[in-house]
Amino acid sequence: MAETKEKQTYQAVIGLEFHVHLATKTKMFCGCRVAYGDSPNTHTCPVCLGHPGALPVLNEKAIELGAMAGIALNCEVASHAVFARKNYFYPDLPKGYQISQFDEPICVGGHIDVPTSDGTVRVGITRLHLEEDAAKNVHVGESGRMHGSTGSLVDFNRGGTPLMEIVTEPDIPTPEAARATANQLKSILQAIGVSEADMEKGQLRCDANVSIRNPDGSFGVKTELKNMNSFRFVEKGIAAELSRQQEIIEDGGRIEQATMHYDPATDEVYSLRSKEEAHDYRYFPEPDLLPLELSTEWIEEKKARLPELPAEMKSRFVESYDLSEYDAGVLTADRDLASFYEEVAKSADAKQSANWISGDLRALLNEEGIEISDSKVEPKDMAELISLIENETVSRSAAKAVLAKVFETGDSPSVVVEKEGLAQTGSGELDGVIEGVIADNPDEAERVRDGDKKVVGFLVGQVMKATRGNADGGRARELLMEKLGS
Ligand code: ADP
Ligand code: MG
Ligand code: ZN
Repeated sequence: MAETKEKQTYQAVIGLEFHVHLATKTKMFCGCRVAYGDSPNTHTCPVCLGHPGALPVLNEKAIELGAMAGIALNCEVASHAVFARKNYFYPDLPKGYQISQFDEPICVGGHIDVPTSDGTVRVGITRLHLEEDAAKNVHVGESGRMHGSTGSLVDFNRGGTPLMEIVTEPDIPTPEAARATANQLKSILQAIGVSEADMEKGQLRCDANVSIRNPDGSFGVKTELKNMNSFRFVEKGIAAELSRQQEIIEDGGRIEQATMHYDPATDEVYSLRSKEEAHDYRYFPEPDLLPLELSTEWIEEKKARLPELPAEMKSRFVESYDLSEYDAGVLTADRDLASFYEEVAKSADAKQSANWISGDLRALLNEEGIEISDSKVEPKDMAELISLIENETVSRSAAKAVLAKVFETGDSPSVVVEKEGLAQTGSGELDGVIEGVIADNPDEAERVRDGDKKVVGFLVGQVMKATRGNADGGRARELLMEKLGS
């Protein structure tokens, strides 16, 4: 209210870059195993250590997975693609160059449709290319930013891991949409099995390019936010960078191109290095590898083998289970939850199943911070609980308590109902309880007889109290009204 000056609206422009480990058994250009968490430098050979004269041999599986990812992202798979040397020096890159793809990548021009709270956003996929990961630098004794390290070690187990880079168009309008884009991409990649995409294992990394649109609508200068290690931090980091940029613009300053780092501990971004000139990597076609020639039949065969994608699964849930877009979206966002749902819906009402799973069960999972696969609740338990409600063995409110107990103990719902005495008060018993409540509350009963419907709620409350919540509220109301001739 105190603010009188009209607030200018700033329009964010965001593009994302993903690096994704492909789910191959072996590395991109040699036969060394791809492994996580093994002793350092136990999966190496002359090729992935970059010894002079060692020759790369292309991993066919990686090509297949890259093409499948591209198809799932609605890209065009190139019939001709070229590997290129990207030259730079870094301790984790002993060859002095990375084998990557440059002007002829394996996939270009796709899109994904991302659900956000403001509706669906279509995010263009500029390109998808294949490359090899670098080794892993480990800074000894590192604490906080970059200070305090007493030395650096290199683990070459990661060096040469098949890597896919996916670059989006600058189509993303908000930090929230950026997080949703990352989530959507991850679930697509997991659905088709091209990557486990586990961020904690470093299998999925995300960088964000962030700018604010100029008043004339043209793009502003962008900065690049590096290495955010969770999607929550992608959202928060972008938001922090946008407010930094906005402040500079409001103060009449200019945004400088820079590489930024987000510090979750302080919720601030700081500059890693300013990026005044573009790097010149001196790309040239990799002379030790032939260009990729992918036939139409080969590409079509990969297309045919693609499993159901999250968006397709969502439409199917809306169609065949008659669910809302929202419920279908929630259930299919997590593949395991989706299969759990389908299992329950085989033997229970589809809508009730959706409500219980996307509502109460998911709340319990979130509270405990566990996945459905680690939960003690089995699909048959969920189906049984729903049938106990349907045949009026338990009231809806008692059913919540039953589910919480099943979640905690792994006992079946009927066992929990028995043990905890949560069975719904039967109609004969309910009749007696209601007579008692009427006798104990003569004034309120009289007012209901006189047509004051508001007081019924109070009497229903008394019935629920007397039955410890084990009565069907609707039934209790009906019986009360009947008895009081209202
Ligand atoms: P660079 O040449 O710096 O690598 P590119 O044009 O190749 O830039 O784009 C790299 C990434 O930055 C892409 O994800 C793209 O969508 C995004 N991007 C490009 N321009 C902008 C901008 N003005 N604001 C935000 N992101 C942008
Ligand atoms: Mg790049
Ligand atoms: Zn090797």
